[in-house]
Amino acid sequence: MSRVAYVNGRFLPHAQASVHIEDRGYQLADGVYEVWAVFGGRLADAEGHFARLERSLGELRIALPMSPKALKLVLRETIRRNLVKNGLVYLQVTRGVAPRDHAFPARPVRPSIVITAKPVDMAAAEAKAAKGIGVVTTPETRWARCDIKTVALLPNVLAKQAARENGAGEAWFVDDLGLVTEGASSNAWIVDADGVLRTRDLNANILRGVTRKSLMELIARDGLQVSERPFSVEEAKQAREAFITGAGSLVTPVVCIDGAPVGDGAPGPVAKRLRASYLSEASNRAA
Ligand code: PLP
Repeated sequence: MSRVAYVNGRFLPHAQASVHIEDRGYQLADGVYEVWAVFGGRLADAEGHFARLERSLGELRIALPMSPKALKLVLRETIRRNLVKNGLVYLQVTRGVAPRDHAFPARPVRPSIVITAKPVDMAAAEAKAAKGIGVVTTPETRWARCDIKTVALLPNVLAKQAARENGAGEAWFVDDLGLVTEGASSNAWIVDADGVLRTRDLNANILRGVTRKSLMELIARDGLQVSERPFSVEEAKQAREAFITGAGSLVTPVVCIDGAPVGDGAPGPVAKRLRASYLSEASNRAA
């Protein structure tokens, strides 16, 4: 089966899908993106991601190039044409194509839109989660608007590469106070020494994770204690458990931080249970 991409109104063979060299996403990172997990060919946490997409676009004053209803149809069609049962769908919207100039184009241009979909091997993902991942910590070097899901990801790229070079699966950004903000492509959590689930609050400079939000609902239903209170790298190393959340990682246990084991160095019971409940809940609600 050959992959198909949606580019500005057309479905094209993936290998031939391209945008203009003066697309502002390419030249200036002037655009946003969204990623949905796909379960059974349907979008996980569909509405949460649509709402964040609209917010990101609004913050940058980029118009959605089609109605939300049409966009949903195109996303589903991209999933269908790529025969994705379980996987990820990626959407990118940029300000469009215009002669290079930092300020917005003087004459409005049509935003560019690209959608791709790819399968995820769920058995391999489960095996990875069952083993847990390591994280490395890295100084927070990003801009002050990490609440906008922009394609400007250079600090995240460098952080992820540092993780890879150290055999880790994720990098956690650490602010000037020594507190963890979030991962390069996930939100960061611990189960602290008192058994309280901790993750950074939404007033901090982080992305408002859609998986994080859904998990909060599950946690409340489970009667677990949660506190949106920052934690230091030291607290994370002393924690009972640690894990990350995101459309790509779902809920993935963290078993070591900068080489130091978390708890007994194996995925913890809370993270494992939350992964299972998130998977089952998000699959049932996928739309
Ligand atoms: N934080 C960052 C920096 C991310 O890039 C992501 C996902 O890509 C997340 C958090 C998790 O967000 P979500 O759960 O909406 O995928």
